[in-house]
Amino acid sequence: MTTADRTARARARTREGSPQEARPPAPEPLPYPVLDSHTHLDIVSADGDDPVGQIAAANAVGVDRLVQVGVDVASSRWGVELANTQRAVVATVALHPNEAPRLSDLDGALKSIEELAEDPRVRGIGETGLDFFRTDENGLAAQERSFRAHIALAKRVGKALVIHDRDAHADILRVLDDEGAPETVVLHCFSGDAAFAAECCRRGYVLSFAGTVTFKNAPHLREAAALAPIGQILVETDAPYLTPMPHRGRPNASYLIPLTVRALAEARGVPLLEMCEAISANGERAFGPW
Ligand SMILES: [Zn+2]
Ligand SMILES: [Zn+2]
Repeated sequence: MTTADRTARARARTREGSPQEARPPAPEPLPYPVLDSHTHLDIVSADGDDPVGQIAAANAVGVDRLVQVGVDVASSRWGVELANTQRAVVATVALHPNEAPRLSDLDGALKSIEELAEDPRVRGIGETGLDFFRTDENGLAAQERSFRAHIALAKRVGKALVIHDRDAHADILRVLDDEGAPETVVLHCFSGDAAFAAECCRRGYVLSFAGTVTFKNAPHLREAAALAPIGQILVETDAPYLTPMPHRGRPNASYLIPLTVRALAEARGVPLLEMCEAISANGERAFGPW
């Protein structure tokens, strides 16, 4: 082999190998199957990993059910189609709180979400809510109007409300109180402290913990996870974001859920099997059987 050949082969190897190398290795499988309560397979897929492969990779480590979450009309429609072809997937549909203020025709988009919400494979309305981190003053009115419309829709169709809450804890509760909360409320990527967790749990809401609960600088999330009743806890990736330790900063996907489940079991001081069984049952209660 010439030097040029060797160089060409090394280059090809690097090119093909790099996406794989960027992916963290699969963790040890769970002793009992759980779900990923919040993922964005379409965004992970945009990185070149097809959803069917992701579903199989998750299944191999004991993550046999996924909730595909919509953020706009296009991604919501994509999720409904996927959920109708993949038994492992159910969908939620919504306009993300960062998306709502950008729309020129918010009412038209809400109408499309409403139509999609009727599909039997749609099990939740979300992610909706409030995001005071990314939306400026001008967008807040549209954001809240959209949130209120999604709450009403969740009640009308009798499906779970999946909430995105970024720096907006008090206002999330204010709007929910004002509208009247639906029967099932899931706070996705729970980000509050113990006091906020206690308040949400008192109201019967479900706290869904993401990889952030494994971060060193997040003892408040482990406190929240420890005090919530075991029947009100879910686990999620929010992939491709929020990759759990020790892979923080690398791309996230549903097959990494076991790392977060182990952190939750540890924070609560319960056996891993018990944690998995609870998460599995809580998921079916919130989103219905797959
Ligand atoms: Zn979110
Ligand atoms: Zn999300």
